[in-house]
Amino acid sequence: QAKASGRGTFKFFSPEHNEKMLQRMQLEQALRRAIEHQELSLDYQPQIDSATGSINGLEALLRWQHPQLGLLLPGLFITIAEETGLIIPLGEWVLRTACRQARAWQRAGYHRLRIAVNISPRQFQQRGLIPMIDAILQETGCDPRGLELELTETTLMDSPKEATALLKALKRRGISLAIDDFGTGYSSLSHLKHFPIDRLKIDRSFVNDLTRSREDSAIVEAIIAMAHRLGLEVVAEGVEHPDQHAILSDWGCKTCQGFLYSKAVSTEEATALLATAQYSTGIPSTLTPQTK
Ligand code: C2E
Ligand code: MG
Ligand code: MG
Ligand code: MG
Repeated sequence: QAKASGRGTFKFFSPEHNEKMLQRMQLEQALRRAIEHQELSLDYQPQIDSATGSINGLEALLRWQHPQLGLLLPGLFITIAEETGLIIPLGEWVLRTACRQARAWQRAGYHRLRIAVNISPRQFQQRGLIPMIDAILQETGCDPRGLELELTETTLMDSPKEATALLKALKRRGISLAIDDFGTGYSSLSHLKHFPIDRLKIDRSFVNDLTRSREDSAIVEAIIAMAHRLGLEVVAEGVEHPDQHAILSDWGCKTCQGFLYSKAVSTEEATALLATAQYSTGIPSTLTPQTK
């Protein structure tokens, strides 16, 4: 019995710990292979103009079709990708794929469509981010005005000065910027006012209980009011119920995203939704495309 050695030491050698380590290493190996073997793809979740019911943007969300484990969601592997540095090649692949698709939609006539791409902290802080983005824009021919990068508060607040410089460089290229999961990180409002951002995405935890919790509805209403006073647009995440949509559009939240309208769908399905989907400002009239 490892009685005398103390709990910390004992825990380090516990079978559960070893198994976890093994799982992580296997996942890391598998993730390396996934990039080469084209097991990754992007799905796109519509963002709806809450006043008109039309799609004004699509968020690219990473999907991993693992040969044995099936479909894996980013919650399971993004953290490992961050910790191992695999997020750098992974993130570059995501950007290139999203820009290529954005270009295709721009060619098809969707010039005002916004394609939103998530950027994780380590990715944002990587050296050579701007040249890499320039190269991808050049290579794909994507109009940067159709590209939005989503960053979290934590990413930006880590070193606000460097972040501001990077954001400005991105803005100069015509790329738009959003703060993701707003309200869950720590944002200094004094920094917020200096960041050249376009949009705040209200985290879905606040939207969730919007109609049931006085606190959450107060927070959501205050974020929308503050954003407007700062000249920022608002996107509400995780809208699942028509009542939430009604309140949000009443309060002037320009864009809503959530399962009420659509989950993230394949490129082909997204293309079909762009052509056909028109959501009512109350209950969505079409949750699926009218044509296949
Ligand atoms: P996120 O950027 O906040 O993306 C929104 C997440 O909420 C997505 O989960 C989406 O499927 C989910 N969602 C959307 N509407 C609803 C709703 O009405 N109800 C509920 N319960 N959930 C909803 P997903 O695709 O699993 O992604 C999770 C997170 O992983 C993302 O959160 C983002 O932080 C990260 N992620 C996804 N793709 C990428 C990527 O390409 N690169 C990086 N760095 N991170 C990514
Ligand atoms: Mg996001
Ligand atoms: Mg979010
Ligand atoms: Mg998130």
